[in-house]
Amino acid sequence: QHRQPGIEAEMNPAPEYIKDSYKAAGKLEGKVALITGGDSGIGRSVTVHYAKEGADVAIVYLDEDVDAERTKQLVEEAGRKCLLIKGDVKDSAFCKDAVKKTVAHFGKLNVLVNNAGMQFPQKDVKNITDEQLDITFRTNIYAYFYFAEAALEHMTAGDSIINTTSVTAYRSSPALIDYSSTKGAITTFTRSLATNLSEKNIRVNGVAPGPVWTPLIVSTFDEKKIQEFGSETAMKRAGQPSELGPAYVFLASDDASFITGQVIHVNGGEVING
Ligand code: NAD
Repeated sequence: QHRQPGIEAEMNPAPEYIKDSYKAAGKLEGKVALITGGDSGIGRSVTVHYAKEGADVAIVYLDEDVDAERTKQLVEEAGRKCLLIKGDVKDSAFCKDAVKKTVAHFGKLNVLVNNAGMQFPQKDVKNITDEQLDITFRTNIYAYFYFAEAALEHMTAGDSIINTTSVTAYRSSPALIDYSSTKGAITTFTRSLATNLSEKNIRVNGVAPGPVWTPLIVSTFDEKKIQEFGSETAMKRAGQPSELGPAYVFLASDDASFITGQVIHVNGGEVING
């Protein structure tokens, strides 16, 4: 695939005012979370914020050992435990096994963050191959189903699932027609699964990031294009991964006990259609 690991920090240093401003308050004390794509970009921010809030975390990642080892180190610096699980989320057997390993290691699973995702550089709809569609849909949709199904075997009242969707699900996204379709699917999946599980008091919510400086976006678009996406937001910039984690903390915490089937838009005030 096209992703270049570990490069967001060098590409776009965080604005001064957001640095080191996060104050942890033990919001996830005693919880165990499994975060797919938890080693990089937005997922790494979720992992590190969860650890700071007192959760132990299992991270599922594809193949970038440098990112995974570094993220594990950050979790341990926050005083929590981290289990690294390497494999391909397109494989349903792997997804089930990753949940099993997490529960075997930590004894339970309270929070699933379905976050691993990918996109191919833009192609005209006529030129998207079956193979590319298959990879995009399997990674960005099927895997979310596989993990949810496996995780729910272990979840009880108070636990929750959080899906990473995207601003592209809410607006016309001609530069990413296949990818944005997967994010539309996951947005609906989030709402429907929330209703299915509401009586069990298992909550399902989503986070829809706008443009964020991560290896994913940097591998797909050049810097000028990312700046252009940023300029379409009300705040006139693309976000930093560190600005995403706190929304995931809130949704996983007991503070969000009456919130389900919702999507938090963390997008710098991007204008969305319909
Ligand atoms: P990233 O490239 O930093 O992280 C992607 C993660 O997904 C990596 O950890 C990678 O190992 C994992 N992954 C990808 N394919 C996998 C596979 N087949 N098996 C296992 N793991 C796999 O990118 P990111 O921007 O942090 O992306 C995280 C999520 O945020 C994705 O779902 C993405 O669609 C979404 N998102 C990103 C942006 C943005 O601008 N960066 C905007 C909206 C939504």
